[in-house]
Amino acid sequence: MDRIVKIAEIGTLKKTRNPVIIYSLTEESEAIANSCRDHGVNVVAFCDNEIRKSKNLYAGLEVIHTPELPKRFPEADFLIAHHALDDCGEQLIDMGYKNIYSPINILKEYNVNNHTHRTTQSYMKAKVDHSIKLHELYFDETKTYLRSIDIQITEKCSMNCESCCNLMQYYERAKNTDEEILRATEILSNNVDYIAEYRIIGGEPLMNKQWAQITNGLAERYRGSIIYIYTNGTICPKDEVLETLKGKNIHFYITDYDELSRNIEKLVQSLKKHKLAFYRKSAGNWVDCSQVKKQNRSVARLKQVFKECCAKRLYSLLNGKLYTCPFLANAANLKSIPDNKADYVDLFSDDKNLKNKIKRLVKMENFFPGCDFCSGRPHDPSAALEYSGKGLIKAGKQMPSMSSRIPFKSYN
Ligand code: SF4
Ligand code: SF4
Repeated sequence: MDRIVKIAEIGTLKKTRNPVIIYSLTEESEAIANSCRDHGVNVVAFCDNEIRKSKNLYAGLEVIHTPELPKRFPEADFLIAHHALDDCGEQLIDMGYKNIYSPINILKEYNVNNHTHRTTQSYMKAKVDHSIKLHELYFDETKTYLRSIDIQITEKCSMNCESCCNLMQYYERAKNTDEEILRATEILSNNVDYIAEYRIIGGEPLMNKQWAQITNGLAERYRGSIIYIYTNGTICPKDEVLETLKGKNIHFYITDYDELSRNIEKLVQSLKKHKLAFYRKSAGNWVDCSQVKKQNRSVARLKQVFKECCAKRLYSLLNGKLYTCPFLANAANLKSIPDNKADYVDLFSDDKNLKNKIKRLVKMENFFPGCDFCSGRPHDPSAALEYSGKGLIKAGKQMPSMSSRIPFKSYN
């Protein structure tokens, strides 16, 4: 099958008369821009579907809101910095563009050490390697691969955001997830070709006292993959615990909620002291996706909500079940949506067809039944055709108290 996205030859891009634009402000897009400069490819701008990202320059270049592209550049060549190559390619084709490329060769020629970056050097090196691997897998249709798997190790959080898109605000008796997390990851990894990133999440994963043990367990098992710990900067682990993570492919991803991230400076200092890679990112605004409510959409509308969803490949593992996104994982775990086996794969079932079921879920191009309970999660809510949430909201607005919970209808 012909791919929408082709591999960019550096020579071709150097000669093109069209402006070259990098699609999406991922962390590795900075490396793509640098590598293009190093090799004489004239990149004129970035584009991104989130309008808020178009306010400032990025790596010294203008950022154009993607829907505005045809007005500014009727012809252009694109380098896709985002992992969802087909989704990005389809959007550009719908806008009338033809030359849509994977930057794999440009990334392969990139020397991280010749540049400084918005992230730490080791973080960027990991991102570039990871991106190359994912682009290689994209061009190999026989493979089932996951760019990342979110491993939710707890329902507890040290914050209580009223619009948590992982739905923590609904858990009345939040607890750590089951003891068999590592066994579930083994079953999953034995049934797919490649998992690039294992992302340890919660709630706040550092609330689970076993977090370092689980992290080290993953690092021992999956040496070729990157492990990320997603934290909100409220907890700084002890020196002796951080020491156990050293020398492994383990990175911290810290979301900065300003004063709510009360231990962020201490955490950053400790990570530096232990030479552990991290990336610190301001929480900024969120696209609200926190309500669980039956929408009664038609099939056509469900297809649209799925097409526009930016979270549909945030594969999530929760209590031994694999889901396509954290919304479905937690809505099902809370029993706030009807139990529908089409929404997940139970990794602990003795189904002989497990491998195919996982493949079907991972490569799903259509909606899941549970999507009808979701507001939708588009990149840009103002431009989405099918979205019923509150739009862009300030991240991290807290509930009245840590014990406040939002009631919901249970489908027990
Ligand atoms: S910090 Fe807020 S958004 Fe993050 S998991 Fe906790 S409650 Fe959810
Ligand atoms: S639209 Fe579907 S895939 Fe996307 S976040 Fe909602 S439930 Fe998940």
